[in-house]
Amino acid sequence: MAMQSDDELIISPGIQKYIDTTGEYLKRRDRYIEDVVKKWKFDTIAVHGLYTVEDALEDYNGAIIEPVFLSASQAYRDSDELEAALAYMIPTWCYSRIANPTTYYYEWTLALLEGYGFDGGTSCCSTSSGMAAIMTAVQPFLVHTKEHVFEERNFLATAQCYGGTFQQFKARLEDERAIECRWIGDPTNIDAWASRIDANTRFLYGELPSNPQQGFFDIEAVADLAHSHGLPLIVDNTVAPPALLRPICHGADIVVQSATKTLTSGGSGVAGAVISRKDLVTQVDNPAMKADFAQYVKFLPNRDYGPNLHPMQAYMTLNDMRTLRSKVDMLSRNTQVVAEFLDAHPGIESVEYLGLPNHPLHELASRYMWLVDAEHDAQYGKPVNRYGHLMSFYVAGGIENTRIVFDALQRIWRATDLGRIKSVATIPAISTHQQQGEEGRKLANIPGNLIRLCVGGEHPDDVIADLDQALSKVPKR
Ligand SMILES: *Cc1c(COP(=O)(O)O)cnc(C)c1O
Repeated sequence: MAMQSDDELIISPGIQKYIDTTGEYLKRRDRYIEDVVKKWKFDTIAVHGLYTVEDALEDYNGAIIEPVFLSASQAYRDSDELEAALAYMIPTWCYSRIANPTTYYYEWTLALLEGYGFDGGTSCCSTSSGMAAIMTAVQPFLVHTKEHVFEERNFLATAQCYGGTFQQFKARLEDERAIECRWIGDPTNIDAWASRIDANTRFLYGELPSNPQQGFFDIEAVADLAHSHGLPLIVDNTVAPPALLRPICHGADIVVQSATKTLTSGGSGVAGAVISRKDLVTQVDNPAMKADFAQYVKFLPNRDYGPNLHPMQAYMTLNDMRTLRSKVDMLSRNTQVVAEFLDAHPGIESVEYLGLPNHPLHELASRYMWLVDAEHDAQYGKPVNRYGHLMSFYVAGGIENTRIVFDALQRIWRATDLGRIKSVATIPAISTHQQQGEEGRKLANIPGNLIRLCVGGEHPDDVIADLDQALSKVPKR
């Protein structure tokens, strides 16, 4: 990957020797991906990724699980190898801010899972958090050239999004950098997107299903629209991880994941990832970035900014991801039962869960949200829809009753967290979406009587019992 173009490197015979040896290795790896890994089912990729018996025996004393490399840097045999490595002429991990063997396995597993069922190649850049992933994904499209320093820049984004995303786009990009964020209130309306695009638009950004609301949109239609203007579509599908939805297969160019959530359902730590397809669509004149966005951001912008993932965290998240499909299936089934209970409860105004047939977006979401490989699963033998484990509901009787119910929860944890194997709940208006103010909440439709609930792996009867006793604390009128 020759990305360093400032200085022409003179390739001595010594350097050439290293290029040849590692070139062989890269060819073997690419063949292994095409001939072996791409033929595996989702679960096998989640369990093994690119870590092989050969890797283990040759390099890692036979360790069955990917070793954690805490060393900050890598040593080289001689000056030729050092020079080739730092010029990115050979695969290397040189310094842990740039690359690391443990994060390498994490990145490949995610690239392959998000690219499962996709014809082309995908790659991944790990980041220290979901917010760092979003920053990593959007910044390269916001560059301006020396000739156009005062060029207007804007981008489109779904108004229903994670509170941190709202802040990054509004406070950091728009208020501090004068990059206009054009919020899309109803992303199911293609004209709402189309009418906001102009010559200064740099990308389209959408979160789905949105947190905490269950906003959704037609990915294929929005991707087609973006591409017809030469723009990329970036999607945050944290709430529907790759076992349920893989936006790149539907035309998205880049996916961002807060791996902190369902991918690390065990709840130990914060992590993120940017996954991109090869040859994405953009008008930014940067061939390396177009060809392989994730590798580009990993080896150049993120080398210079440093929002990298710690290898220990990569290892913990990787271990949690191995059972993603069966876990997401169980969590989704539990959530469906809980959502149906709440939907029938007189103390609840309404429930936002895409799995409920009465939800206005149920049909649209059902086109996209499938449990991966259900048709190959002995239990199902056919495609089945699953809708994830995030839901929210409006408590009847306003903010006061909402706080009574929330404060009475005994087993469900009160925390600004989601994606856990333990059920957690929060009131978004006073927590995750508190900073964006009344107006921002109105735009995203987050009233004070909304409770966000992420259902965990407990038996759903016990989750329901906790909700039932909490709802019974509301005084009868
Ligand atoms: C949590 C979350 C983020 C931010 O991720 P962090 O890992 O907390 O930085 C972004 N998008 C969505 C949908 C989230 O739920």
